[in-house]
Amino acid sequence: MRKPIAAANWKMNGDLALIDTFAAADLAHGNVQTIWGLPAILLPAAKAAGFADLAGEDVSAYEKGAYTGEISAAMLKEAGCTYCIIGHSERRTMHGEDENILQEKWRQLKAQGIHPLYCLGESEAEYDGGQTQAAIERQLLPILEAGLVDEHTVLAYEPVWAIGTGKAATAEYAQSVHEQIRKILSEKCGNMAEKVRILYGGSVKPDNAAELIAKADIDGFLVGGASLQADAFGKIIEAMA
Ligand code: PEP
Repeated sequence: MRKPIAAANWKMNGDLALIDTFAAADLAHGNVQTIWGLPAILLPAAKAAGFADLAGEDVSAYEKGAYTGEISAAMLKEAGCTYCIIGHSERRTMHGEDENILQEKWRQLKAQGIHPLYCLGESEAEYDGGQTQAAIERQLLPILEAGLVDEHTVLAYEPVWAIGTGKAATAEYAQSVHEQIRKILSEKCGNMAEKVRILYGGSVKPDNAAELIAKADIDGFLVGGASLQADAFGKIIEAMA
């Protein structure tokens, strides 16, 4: 039985007042694991307020040194992170991150015992061109072949056309891709495939969460916009519990 995850991705949003709002809302639910992907500068306040689990939104591919503005895996660890989002489509498209650099990021996280929350998904053009499977394989196979995935890895299937657009994938479509992902995992990693949690991300809201989470291979959500509103995120968690 895979415990469902509600993962927030605040991106470059939020402030100390929002941490206080979420702390007061007390969204914890025993049946659902929450993961808080927050701007790094807010992590200490979130830790002090008792948020669990904390996640970086990105990590440097390097251990330490002259990389101005970067944040290392060791720094995330010290700030209390147990997870870190990598491979978000915004990093892939705006910062040119590909599977080579993401493998290096993954290795940095692994060395610190931080679990990657690895995002993958097809672009709108790939979706329109029936290239979803090819996009998933391009983003997943190099990671699997490098032997990086373990049972604590979290994958987030995020069709790029659904992120921040209000145009979520249908539950049937999302399930069909999650099933493909689990099949690839099973072919490459055997039984571990049943333990890896695969989240859906892309315009998850209180009104579509229940239908999506009911699908066999959808183990939770990575939530952007709605994770900035305590009320909406709380309703999504309730729909999963
Ligand atoms: C995301 O950015 O990971 C995301 C899923 O955003 P939204 O929920 O706003 O579509």
